[in-house]
Amino acid sequence: MIGRFERVVVIFGGRDENFRTFEGGKFEARTYEEMEEIERKFDALDHRSTYWQMFKDKYVKCSCGEEVPCGRFTNTCECGRDYGFDGSLLADRSQWGEETGEHWTEGY
Ligand SMILES: [Zn+2]
Repeated sequence: MIGRFERVVVIFGGRDENFRTFEGGKFEARTYEEMEEIERKFDALDHRSTYWQMFKDKYVKCSCGEEVPCGRFTNTCECGRDYGFDGSLLADRSQWGEETGEHWTEGY
């Protein structure tokens, strides 16, 4: 489940046969279609001669207007709201452990 999905920044990194690292490309996806396109590009890379890695940084739009990178299990916006690694808004810390009955999809 994704919260207010804003964009995903993807960086391809690689290592050549001399184990030198290099940046293979930086991409931004704003839709799932674009994300699939990037993954296709990554799949098309030659994985045999070089060691490739994909670094993904997901950003969600907070209600306060800030973009919050969701790379960790819990990601805190400057305004204090917490987002999960999947971009979902977590309940206020004071309510953790309680069932609030609210759903993050409400208010769209
Ligand atoms: Zn915020």
